[in-house]
Amino acid sequence: MTNKCSRCGKERVVVNSRKEKVGSSYVFYREMSCPDKDCQKLVEKVLSNEAKKRVFIKDEQLKRENERKIRIANSLKN
Ligand SMILES: [Zn+2]
Repeated sequence: MTNKCSRCGKERVVVNSRKEKVGSSYVFYREMSCPDKDCQKLVEKVLSNEAKKRVFIKDEQLKRENERKIRIANSLKN
């Protein structure tokens, strides 16, 4: 399996790896990063923006769901 940078297409390199014991077996975690530091910074920026967007969308959905519940509760009162 190749792991190429989504921005520049360069092969990603392992910058950090660790091993954790889960139950009776070990799980390996590998942190991959673009060899181009500036490119990696941009990739991380995009990722964090997307994560923020997802949180925002979830908040909006919860808000709408609550508003809907209130509307239903109000309509039952009348
Ligand atoms: Zn890159």
